[in-house]
Amino acid sequence: MRTDILGVGFDGLTLEEAAQAGAALAEAEGFHYAVTPNPEFILAARKDPAFSKALAGADLVLADGVGVIYAARILGRPLKGRVPGIDFAQRLVAWMAGHGKRLFLLGAKPGVAELAAANLKAAYPGLIVCGTHDGYFQEDAPVVEAIRQSAADVVFVCLGAPKQEFWMAKNGPASGARLMVGLGGSLDVFAGVVDRAPKGFQKLGLEWLYRLMKEPRRIGRMAKLPLVLIYALGDRLGGKRHESR
Ligand code: UDP
Repeated sequence: MRTDILGVGFDGLTLEEAAQAGAALAEAEGFHYAVTPNPEFILAARKDPAFSKALAGADLVLADGVGVIYAARILGRPLKGRVPGIDFAQRLVAWMAGHGKRLFLLGAKPGVAELAAANLKAAYPGLIVCGTHDGYFQEDAPVVEAIRQSAADVVFVCLGAPKQEFWMAKNGPASGARLMVGLGGSLDVFAGVVDRAPKGFQKLGLEWLYRLMKEPRRIGRMAKLPLVLIYALGDRLGGKRHESR
């Protein structure tokens, strides 16, 4: 059973449980995909039924971002905790390195996926990166074919939302991969092109603030985030009024 947070159903898993579920999907027959919605996704999905469907169709829906956790608390349906996409990816990669699984990295500007591959291979000895491709292509078919040829078990799809979720749902089954994970700007972080917030910010759930300090142009996008909390409060109070009638 998923926990509904403003129309998006989340799997209430800890990071450890999510990594185990990801590993199981990477071994299971057929194609699966995982998504890591943050508050921006929730707002976008409320306006775009196709995006909402692409999120609901995922096999794993992980709460990326403290805003989702707060909204869940306000709604009275707390989740077990935050599962940042990048932490999930690292756990999965560690497992893959120990199990001979093949990883394909898709997305970001030309050259970034190759840098990310080199850094990941250095950090996780034994990891097989079977292919890379940048995220600025026109035709899907050659990219799907490249993944097929690489015999990837897992693909990190880093095209930004909602593009990556649509891409996985549409092209995943033909790729031969077992698991695709939509991971936004993670390849930039793995490549060292973008810094991740220091541990102190991470612990306090303030990664968004660090990112805002580094990239002030995000203020327009981020200013919308408190809306999620306001909607959650509205739903909660509306629900309460309903119950007491
Ligand atoms: N990106 C891409 N193809 C596109 C648009 C974006 O590969 O057509 C990449 C972009 O280079 C960046 C990532 O997708 O690496 C999205 O980053 P962003 O920080 O916007 O995503 P978020 O983590 O906020 O979802």
